[in-house]
Amino acid sequence: MADREGPLTPAQTEDDVPEATLRPRRLEEYFGQERIKENLRIAIEAARGRGDSLDHVLLHGPPGLGKTTLAMILASEMGVSIRITSGPAIERAGDLASLLTSLQQGDMLFIDEIHRLPIAVEEVLYPAMEDFSVDIILGKGPKARDVRLKLNRFTLVGATTRYARVSQPLRDRFGTSFRLEFYDEEALSEIVRRSASVLRCSIDESGVTQIANRSRGTARIANRLLSRVRDYAEVRADGIITAPVADAALAQLDIDSLGLDQMDRTLMSAMAERFDGGPVGLETLAAAISEESDTIMDVYEPYLLKLGFLTRTPRGRVLTSMGYSHLGIDPETRVAQTPLFGISAADPS
Ligand code: ADP
Repeated sequence: MADREGPLTPAQTEDDVPEATLRPRRLEEYFGQERIKENLRIAIEAARGRGDSLDHVLLHGPPGLGKTTLAMILASEMGVSIRITSGPAIERAGDLASLLTSLQQGDMLFIDEIHRLPIAVEEVLYPAMEDFSVDIILGKGPKARDVRLKLNRFTLVGATTRYARVSQPLRDRFGTSFRLEFYDEEALSEIVRRSASVLRCSIDESGVTQIANRSRGTARIANRLLSRVRDYAEVRADGIITAPVADAALAQLDIDSLGLDQMDRTLMSAMAERFDGGPVGLETLAAAISEESDTIMDVYEPYLLKLGFLTRTPRGRVLTSMGYSHLGIDPETRVAQTPLFGISAADPS
């Protein structure tokens, strides 16, 4: 997926604590997403009771919300092995066919960014998901013949940041599909507390709240901010993460009171200043801030939409009154009221 730079990128980057260290392994340690967990608990218990495999599951939602983690937890709760791959990594139909034929009874196959599977590969998935079989062509030229191979029963877990780009025939073949939501403060606080204890760093409740509130509702960002704040606490403070320490560290990273960073504000101020608040088309906006439209759609926009700072209309994106206010611009007069992006003004520490 398109990436974003800086501490708020929801994609995994090299200076992160390795994700394997912080990934919860059981459903009890996977915080938030209560409705999804409840549905999955029922599905797991029912499948186990029947001695059957789980139905295929499609997980969708912005990056860093826990799709891969949930797939791995599902496998461990079911007591099966999981193979992990991604749409762009499977280039040819034959690659997928050999992957599928290597799966053992009950195994799970996780395909990240499933909307990016080439169509010829996707077509191999249809009979595999439906009838647990693949059609392969043996031989070449006039002697070539179609052979249908039976597969072991398996569970496909697909993940995507772009539900709309998953083709209808593929969507139809998933037994269940879940949309992961941004995390609320409580769930993010639990994530920060757990990660702090895994990383053995000292943090008080006020520090937990500061980090949770500024994580853009995203689990991966909560973990990332915790790592950066921990560095700051060790170097500039006495190693204990308190609210003032977290505040100072986050201000240093240019992250404001709502967790927005420079790129979010660049995007919003471009809309305000160059397009009179919109509507502005995605491609035009992308060109104006020299960013890829995919990155805007997958990474920046979902949280700004959730905050109510942007809306999507048929004619393009529109900056809302709340968006103007966050930029320190009066929505009525469109005159700047406070120094733009007053991080220290917004965050008394
Ligand atoms: P996605 O696949 O949606 O991009 P990941 O599953 O890779 O996201 O999650 C990123 C990181 O966030 C994981 O390494 C994990 O540590 C953490 N994480 C995600 N969801 C949760 C959760 N519900 N509870 C605790 N930690 C989580």
